[in-house]
Amino acid sequence: MVRTVVRIFLWLTVAMMGAAPGGAAPAEALLFSPVAEVPEWRLLDQGQGKLTRAEFTERLRKTFDPEGALPKYLLFDEGGVTLFRDTARTIPLYRLKFATQPPPWPAPVLTAGDPARPLAGKTLCLDPGHIGGDWADIEERTFRIGRDQPVVEGALNLRVSQILEKRLQEAGARVVWTHQGFQPTTPLRPADLYPEAIEYLLQGSRGARVPRFSANRLIRWNAELLFYRSAEISARARRVNEELQPDLTLCIHFNAAPWPGGRIGLTSANKLVLFAHGAYTAGELAFDDQKFRLMRKLLEGSTPVELGVGAAIGECFRQGWGFRPESYAGSGYAHATGVSPYVWYRNLIANRLFDGPVVFVEGPYMNDREMYRWIQAGEYPGTKPVAGRKRGNIFGEYADLVADGVIAYFRSQTGVPPAFTNYSP
Ligand SMILES: [Zn+2]
Repeated sequence: MVRTVVRIFLWLTVAMMGAAPGGAAPAEALLFSPVAEVPEWRLLDQGQGKLTRAEFTERLRKTFDPEGALPKYLLFDEGGVTLFRDTARTIPLYRLKFATQPPPWPAPVLTAGDPARPLAGKTLCLDPGHIGGDWADIEERTFRIGRDQPVVEGALNLRVSQILEKRLQEAGARVVWTHQGFQPTTPLRPADLYPEAIEYLLQGSRGARVPRFSANRLIRWNAELLFYRSAEISARARRVNEELQPDLTLCIHFNAAPWPGGRIGLTSANKLVLFAHGAYTAGELAFDDQKFRLMRKLLEGSTPVELGVGAAIGECFRQGWGFRPESYAGSGYAHATGVSPYVWYRNLIANRLFDGPVVFVEGPYMNDREMYRWIQAGEYPGTKPVAGRKRGNIFGEYADLVADGVIAYFRSQTGVPPAFTNYSP
C-alpha cells in the first residue's frame, strides 16, 4: 500500500510537471505501466553468469522480442550486456554478465516419476480468469440474449477450474488457486484508482482502446479497468510469487469473438488459442517494469514448459472437439511459436507478472452458436445431444481436455533425468 501511495504521488507530480507552461513532457511519465510495482532489479542477480550471449539473443529473437525493439535499449560489452531506460542509452538500469560455457537448453524443468500418478510431487496453480459475481458487469465479461440465462465468463471459468482441480489431484498434483469465488483478490477498489486513471489518460493511454465517453465517465471507466485488470492481477501475482510458488500455472478462460455488426448476437467461431509468454511490443518496452519482467522471464527459462504444455493441450482440443487454431498473424501483439499452431506468444498481465511457467487457455468462444447452446444446456449429468452430437456437459469436457493435455505433457517427460530444481535459473 505504501508503494501505491508513493506511485500516486509520483504520477501526480509528473502530471503537473507535464502541464507546466513550456515544459516538455518528462521522460518519467513513461517509466511504469499503471499500478505496476517498482522493479527490484536485484531479483535478476540469480541469473548472473548463467546464459551465454548467443543464448540471450536467441531467447530475445525467438520468444520475447520478435519485433526487435529491445536492442535499442541494450549495449553489449566484452562479457555482458547493459539494459538502459532510454534509447539514447544514458540511464543504465541493469548489467547482466554472460556465461562463458553454453548452458543446457532447454533445461528439463519438470519431470514425471510414477506413471500412474504423473503429477505426483507437482504443485499446479489454477487461475480462473476474471472475478465474476457482482463485478462481471464492470469487467465487461457478461452478456445476455433475450430471456436466456446470462453468460458470465468469471463463473464459467471457475466451474471448469473446479472440475479440473479434481482431475489434476487424481493424477497426483497438489492444486493451489490464485482465487476462488467471486471476490476480488486486491484490497483496492475502482474508487481508489482515480488518480492513476487520470494519469493514464494524461499519458494519452498509449493507443489503448478508449471509448468515447464524457470526461467523468472516461475517468471512471479507466479506474475500473485498472481495478479489474492491473490491480487484481497484480494481487494474484503477489500470491503466486510469494506464497504459492507453483511448478505451473493454468489461466482458464472462455473466449469471446467480436460482436457481429457491433450488436450482441451469435457468430461462428469454433477455434482455439493458447498463449505462452513473450512477444513484447515496442510500445510496452518503453516502460521500466515491462523491461524488468522481460528480463526476469527470459532468465527464468519457463518457455519450453509453456510450449510443451500448451502444445499438448492444443492437441487434445483438436482430437476432442476438432477445433481449428485461431490465427493472430498480423495482430502486432501476438507471435507464432512454431511449435503448435494453437500456441502463440503474447505478453498478458498474468503471464508477465506470475513467476514460473504459465499457460493461458482461452477455451471455447462463448458467443459461438454451438458453444452458446452448449453453455445454455448447463451442467447436466451424462451425455445429451447438443449441436448434432452426443456430448457431456461443456464444463466437464473442457476440464477433461485441459487435464488430458497436462498429464500427457508430464508423461512425455518421464525418463528425462531428474534434474528438477524449480523454475529459477
Ligand atoms: Zn477471459
